[in-house]
Amino acid sequence: MAVRLTRTQLKQMVSQARAEAPNECCGLLLGSGDIVAEVLPARNTAADLPEPRDPRRHYYLDDQVQLKAMRLEQERGWQIVGIYHSHPATEARPSATDRALAFWQSPRYVIISLADASRPDVRAFRITDRSNGDGTPVSDSSGNPVKDVTEEDVVVT
Ligand SMILES: [Zn+2]
Repeated sequence: MAVRLTRTQLKQMVSQARAEAPNECCGLLLGSGDIVAEVLPARNTAADLPEPRDPRRHYYLDDQVQLKAMRLEQERGWQIVGIYHSHPATEARPSATDRALAFWQSPRYVIISLADASRPDVRAFRITDRSNGDGTPVSDSSGNPVKDVTEEDVVVT
């Protein structure tokens, strides 16, 4: 499994990550199957939540981008291929928070790391609930769902 995007789309995401650093940037990747047709940048509204969060370590997609994504899904038959955000200073791996807040099972979580400023690292992951044989989700001792993280290739076309 992979995420396929163009060099231009990749550059667009990296530019957004650089422009918004030291805050995390975020957005949606729309398209079909593995193929990204359009990058939809979002505003990181983590600081505007009723319980504000530090946008340097958290991201929250604004409502506008979600409405725009829904419209494109209807008009063009696209789906959300991925959800992306940046890690301005840490590696391109889902953090504990990323795993805990990964509510979407099917799209990939794409992470842009700027830890090495001269070589941005872009990786894609699926973060899924682990299920028992009977289909019920597995929880840890605190009752939180146990998540499985699988890396997928990012293919630049
Ligand atoms: Zn993250």
